[in-house]
Amino acid sequence: MKIVIATTNLGKKRELEQLLGADIEVLSLCDFEDIKEVQEDGQTFIENARKKALGYARQTNMYTVADDSGLEIDALGGEPGVHSARFSGNHKDHSSDLIDHENIEKVLKLMRNTPKNDRTARFVCSLCLASPEKIILETKGKVEGLITKEKHGDRGFGYDPIFYVPSIGKTTAQMSKEEKNSISHRGQAVRKFKEQLLNTDLSRNLE
Ligand code: IMP
Repeated sequence: MKIVIATTNLGKKRELEQLLGADIEVLSLCDFEDIKEVQEDGQTFIENARKKALGYARQTNMYTVADDSGLEIDALGGEPGVHSARFSGNHKDHSSDLIDHENIEKVLKLMRNTPKNDRTARFVCSLCLASPEKIILETKGKVEGLITKEKHGDRGFGYDPIFYVPSIGKTTAQMSKEEKNSISHRGQAVRKFKEQLLNTDLSRNLE
């Protein structure tokens, strides 16, 4: 059994490979030639994940998993949302594991007068598995938090230094990898995905 993960990032590929276990072989988009990029122009995370999973499944003719994630801030009307990676104008690939200082500065500036009680936000992750014909399964994870007034911690990536999780008493940039995975939007979506995958018959070989 083979599955494609809709990424060219080998870190993401490795993560999914570990998750799925030894009996499923994971390929990335790097294993195919002439793949056209599927645009992430949906209005929601799940719309983008579906679009990428179906778009790449049709091009590879294989079962394909895609994800989309980001930060929703209530005081900014849900922004940056699906624009999280390029909120400040420059695209940053989050899988390169880097803090996105430009996006963070933009958020902190826009929220400089927002009081603590109104600084609620959440990280959201949608995962989708598709065959070339249809969506097979999809899962979602989210974690609620507060946007801090300044950066705390230097682990993680993206917006982690300004995302404070009250139940843990830390920003996600102050958490160990294991601690963040146990509560994160991505961790939740992936755990649900694995559970559902175990109950799904993918035995039809598309090759
Ligand atoms: P994607 O690659 O389209 O899913 O982009 C997701 C963007 O959302 C990233 O570039 C980050 O800016 C942000 N993001 C998603 N998950 C996290 C997280 O766990 N920590 C910090 N930022 C995140």
